[in-house]
Amino acid sequence: MFVYKIADIKLSAIFIKRKNMIEQQIIDKANYCLNCINKPCSTKGCPMHTKIPEFISMIKENNLQEAYKILKENNLFSYICALICPQE
Ligand code: SF4
Repeated sequence: MFVYKIADIKLSAIFIKRKNMIEQQIIDKANYCLNCINKPCSTKGCPMHTKIPEFISMIKENNLQEAYKILKENNLFSYICALICPQE
């Protein structure tokens, strides 16, 4: 029983560390955004009309929950779309 508890604590620590690393990577990528004046990534640029500038600005503000809501509000398959989007 005690061994399981220690294993649980170690696994939790690993998951928290991994989660923090992924969140930092997401924020780092969002910080690449130059906040262009004409914003080609806006709803005109995305065939799914995802609000990319709003999504990125929420990430920059470290509000990942709101960013996730923006991403999911018009497209439940945004992860798949991100993989197949030609990003031209
Ligand atoms: S994400 Fe949009 S606003 Fe940011 S650099 Fe790319 S095109 Fe410009």
